[in-house]
Amino acid sequence: MTTRSRQPKPFTIPLTELEQSAFCQTGSELRTKTLAEEFNAGVTWQKVPIRYLKLSPDEISEGIADAKAELGKDLTILGHHYQRADVVQYADFRGDSYRLSQMAANEREAKYVAFCGVHFMAETADILTSDDQAVILPNLAAGCSMADMAQMEDVQDCWDDMSTVLGDQGEVVPVTYMNSAASIKALCGRNNGLVCTSSNADAAFTWAFERGKRVLFMPDQHLGRNTALKMGISEDDMLVWSPFKPLGGHSPDALRRAKVILWEGHCSVHTRFTADQIADARKSYPGVQVIVHPECTRETVDAADYSGSTETIVRMVTDAPAGSAWGIGTEINLVNRLAQENPDKKVFCLDPIVCPCATMYRVHPAYLLWVLEGLRSGIVINQIQVPQEIAVDARVALERMLDLQA
Ligand code: SF4
Repeated sequence: MTTRSRQPKPFTIPLTELEQSAFCQTGSELRTKTLAEEFNAGVTWQKVPIRYLKLSPDEISEGIADAKAELGKDLTILGHHYQRADVVQYADFRGDSYRLSQMAANEREAKYVAFCGVHFMAETADILTSDDQAVILPNLAAGCSMADMAQMEDVQDCWDDMSTVLGDQGEVVPVTYMNSAASIKALCGRNNGLVCTSSNADAAFTWAFERGKRVLFMPDQHLGRNTALKMGISEDDMLVWSPFKPLGGHSPDALRRAKVILWEGHCSVHTRFTADQIADARKSYPGVQVIVHPECTRETVDAADYSGSTETIVRMVTDAPAGSAWGIGTEINLVNRLAQENPDKKVFCLDPIVCPCATMYRVHPAYLLWVLEGLRSGIVINQIQVPQEIAVDARVALERMLDLQA
């Protein structure tokens, strides 16, 4: 049996990854500026009508309040934890991608769901809501650099290669992290796989190993590795699949031996956290407890006291006793909010550089106002619509995930 012969592809870094550090700064305050000023950050922004560029925070706030009052129950605004405070304040519900996907699945009343998050989340909401509900992403340039590291044609090539080498595709269960395009979720749905989030990756791995011998995990190698290690799988039984090399950079024998095949993707926000930062935090705050997101590297997770999903981080810090100190390895907007909401505790970000997720940060409040004012005038701007043939299979993979928690 031979693999298809393909030329190595040129190494291509997604634009979203190259732009990831655009909003990083050494000061500790992340202040929303007018959209015109933020356009200077040098990232790709969606064009908006000129009047939104110079609006002051008060004008934006007034406009959003008016639109929300007029649209009433026809509108639900979902806000991801990593959104800036100036956007999250308008959300009817906030959560991580798992929680928000559950909310989208249960939301039956609103005609419009404005999703303040990134593109793959809005796609997921569109798949899980009914056909007569419109899901809106305020800024279409709000993608995710990790999701962009797994392009559908590369994933399909990988799947075909594995089929050729391993023969029976039933041996490999494809599992994709929520942070991936709908087309990749659909591939998982079609091939007896499922979606997972960082809240349920352990359960997804268990589900997959009950049905096959190997897991192909996409696109975050770190979440996949950290989850497999927790299950007692040795790193020797894992390999990292490079989409830029024939057969992912491995021999057919190595592929046959692997239990977990990790896609070569990562989160540019969470891989900033290091074991050295944790050592510094322990020196500065004796007794500090350190919790990091499992998208961090293995070394960082090993050096921390805990690792857990965004919702786990929120819960642990909120439930912690007064006077405790928490060093956190996750997105800065959430860490700042936790610090503000827990004034009786010391809550700080492990990374001294203030570095928000640059794609999440593109949902400036002026964009939210723009799409809401569109709805007031009967125009749906930036609707996310997943083609039916993709949505059907992706829904299967998502529902398998939602059933894991039932
Ligand atoms: S924090 Fe990382 S995984 Fe999440 S949206 Fe930003 S780049 Fe993507």
